[in-house]
Amino acid sequence: NRVMVETAAKTYPVIIGEGAVEMIAPFIEQMAKQPTRLFIIADESVRSLHGERLRSALPGKIPADWHDVPAGESAKSFSVFEQCLTRMLECALDRHSLVVAFGGGACGDLAGFCAAAYMRGIPFIQVPTTILAHDSAVGGKTAVNHPLGKNMIGAFHQPEAVVFDTVFLQSLSEKEKRSGFAEVIKHALISDDALYHDIRANINSASDINGSFLEHCLKRGIEIKGAIVKEDELETGVRAYLNFGHTYGHAVEALSGYGNVAHGEAVACGMIFALYASVEKNGLAFDIPSFAAWLKAAGYPVDSGTLFSFEDIYNVMTRDKKAYGGTVRFVLLSKIGEPYVTDMTKEELKKIDEHFRKEAV
Ligand code: NAD
Ligand code: ZN
Repeated sequence: NRVMVETAAKTYPVIIGEGAVEMIAPFIEQMAKQPTRLFIIADESVRSLHGERLRSALPGKIPADWHDVPAGESAKSFSVFEQCLTRMLECALDRHSLVVAFGGGACGDLAGFCAAAYMRGIPFIQVPTTILAHDSAVGGKTAVNHPLGKNMIGAFHQPEAVVFDTVFLQSLSEKEKRSGFAEVIKHALISDDALYHDIRANINSASDINGSFLEHCLKRGIEIKGAIVKEDELETGVRAYLNFGHTYGHAVEALSGYGNVAHGEAVACGMIFALYASVEKNGLAFDIPSFAAWLKAAGYPVDSGTLFSFEDIYNVMTRDKKAYGGTVRFVLLSKIGEPYVTDMTKEELKKIDEHFRKEAV
């Protein structure tokens, strides 16, 4: 089961499914240039849960060094980045060594950036272990955080392959499942009306987010993201559509204190907000109260944004790197599957914020 992602930099497979990890050794063995060493950068909790499964799937002939990094977002720091590079130098990796990222989006972003920076760029493979990482592992954006801004220091560096074994997803908490699944809903809303309706029909609680339907959704999500990345690898145009739900979502995530409301949970709130804006600005036909009630039933904290004043949310949105002047750049829908980018004024946003507070919760 593979999806090919084409970019100007390279074309690579996303191998997805139950047991996909078994494809790592065959994939590496057919690489044109055999890696001299493997360097596995692993989220420490993922390694303790699933490390053995990955280890036994790696090609035995190539020497492998493992390096643990803190679980989750704390991996994306300058100090962890430096420690990784130090270990990479100590292990004498060369230009033909292969970095393997093993964990969620945070570990993937860090490990990808280590691979991008080491000797000006060495190859890497993504082995994502969260639902969200169907999004983050594809497309070549890598980064660490700076105290003054999330994801502010990074590079575009495409992986050689993404090996996405859905068995790893079984150990995710419901919160992590819900968070990652919000990005699947996003992919459907920005480009596939039929997928959106399928999701509405099949998912009614966080515990429904599993099995073959989940795998189908992930595969479609990867195809959608891959198509957008193909068209706009370096985010000068349509790649911005992937920010649907993220402008208001990022503000909710930041104001709640990162982690309390998970990224995708905040994006779910942001999608409701962007849908109100779409109805308001261009008459999108969409039953938002029913969408919000469905998200709420699946455990999404849809009212998270209402805990903060409009002024606070607006201030964070204008601080965001996607904002220009006093207006805020938003991705809206003219129809399900038809996104576009527009600038919203403070007055417009305030009006939508009022709707949101009155109706969505
Ligand atoms: P994460 O990597 O922070 O992981 C969340 C938690 O889940 C961590 O505690 C981790 O240890 C745990 N975990 C991971 N896999 C597990 C498993 N199989 N079983 C049990 N626990 C597991 O979270 P995430 O949601 O995967 O990724 C979020 C990150 O992705 C953010 O830093 C965000 O900026 C980044 N991101 C990047 C892109 C991109 O294009 N590069 C896109 C979207 C998001
Ligand atoms: Zn996101």
